[in-house]
Amino acid sequence: DRIPLRRALISVSDKEGLVDFARALAARGVELLSTGGTAKALREAGLTVRDVAEITGFPEMMDGRVKTLHPAVHGGLLALRDNQDHRAAMETHGIGAIDLLAVNLYPFETTVAKGAAYDDCVENIDIGGPAMIRAAAKNHAYVTTIVDVQDYAALLAELDAGDGATSLPFRQRMAQAAYARTAAYDAAVSSWMAGAIGETTPRRRAFAGTLAQPLRYGENPHQSAAFYTDGSGRPGVATARQWQGKELSYNNINDTDAAFELVAEFAPADGPAVAIIKHANPCGVARADTLESAYRRAFDCDRTSAFGGIIALNRTLDEATARAITEIFTEVVIAPDADDAARAVFAAKKNLRLLTTGGLPDARAGGLTFRQVAGGFLVQDRDNGHVTRADLRVVTRRQPTEAELADLMFAWTVAKHVKSNAIVYARDLATVGIGAGQMSRVDSTRIGRRKSEDMAEALGLSAPLTEGAAVASDAFFPFADGIEALAAAGARAVIQPGGSMRDDEVIAAADRLGLAMVFTGQRHFRH
Ligand code: 5GP
Repeated sequence: DRIPLRRALISVSDKEGLVDFARALAARGVELLSTGGTAKALREAGLTVRDVAEITGFPEMMDGRVKTLHPAVHGGLLALRDNQDHRAAMETHGIGAIDLLAVNLYPFETTVAKGAAYDDCVENIDIGGPAMIRAAAKNHAYVTTIVDVQDYAALLAELDAGDGATSLPFRQRMAQAAYARTAAYDAAVSSWMAGAIGETTPRRRAFAGTLAQPLRYGENPHQSAAFYTDGSGRPGVATARQWQGKELSYNNINDTDAAFELVAEFAPADGPAVAIIKHANPCGVARADTLESAYRRAFDCDRTSAFGGIIALNRTLDEATARAITEIFTEVVIAPDADDAARAVFAAKKNLRLLTTGGLPDARAGGLTFRQVAGGFLVQDRDNGHVTRADLRVVTRRQPTEAELADLMFAWTVAKHVKSNAIVYARDLATVGIGAGQMSRVDSTRIGRRKSEDMAEALGLSAPLTEGAAVASDAFFPFADGIEALAAAGARAVIQPGGSMRDDEVIAAADRLGLAMVFTGQRHFRH
């Protein structure tokens, strides 16, 4: 199964390592064929190379859209060398076998990432490259396909170990990687177009990503992991610039994303907002007149949990906020931007990672989310659901006050980003108790209250801030017991989807206990 390597076609957009690689092939007696730019680079380096145009008998044309799409190339890649008919066809049409294809594609993904215009992105969709890659990889019984600059060295080592020939297992490995590349490439094109035209129908979407970064390990040290981008260019941890601190881990990326998606619910025009996240759940969220005050109020929701947390800001990090943040240990801070003075404050804290994104993601934007199950994965639209005050239906005798309404809307927005069963207590646009991820809604209610008691003790308050709070529940209360637990915790107003079989009992309990309650008609499960 060893195939000697006699003729190579090299056509690369990324010319990194090209000359050394080609020179090493030439030194091993390999004939080189190339497309325009690649051939030029090789000639400039003093190498002998034949133009593909010479073989096809056609010049490269239409701005390079048509260079290698010709039977002289594809026949040379696809022909079965020990098939009589294929050999006869090669003979008749003067087609020479191509034993190695080394291609890297037009930089579509980086063109999109740079924010290029639509037409520019379209022009960067490589056509001939993927066609050749797919042909060569199909014919891996005879042909070696290299699509990654990092595999140049592996091929040379393979040739040296095999007396100038490649083995079938090597060609199979490279072919498998080649299809991963073309699949990811087309998925990037499709994802970009979906974003550009607003297509969200799951069956019309592609699901591959582009490897952005191998990670040191996964959720636990014995799990390997990698970070893929989806080509959407959505501002966030995938597109962020990291100013300082060590590499992000799998859990850091997950938590940073949760923090930034939450804070992005609060438009910068509506004032500063801060979210502090631990294990993908918020342990404090607040809005205030200044960013520093929003941070301090978020921190005061649950100071114990905030230690080693991840902080997201909805606007440029300033010096005062940076100083406040550095009072305790924090893993990651993510913000649209950070001013020079804030960066100088952080520079003294070597372990603190600072990420800036240039903007906030649109919380209302479409997109898909994925979850793995045994034997498959679930795909759904991202939860971009949103209610306005006009959608709320007051179901109790008591109407919420204006201040309660503001807190209800705030708590509801936060609850969307808390694992179910989610209970969020809020006062004056800050969370004061969060119960997350419990199997019973009553437990979440109690946990939020208990956290608030702990903080009251730590802050020397006469009563927990849940006394008089507004509360959001991500889903309906199936029984009146949840409402009774909220009232016992001192809550005054409740926001929840409604829709339980026992809504009547739940509403009657709220009336009996003097609560104001509104229904949103929309649920925010997050499992
Ligand atoms: P060069 O820099 O050598 O002129 O062009 C190399 C690039 O052209 C590679 O990225 C390769 O994938 C791409 N390419 C090769 N043949 C074709 C073709 O027929 N059409 C298009 N659109 N791109 C091609």
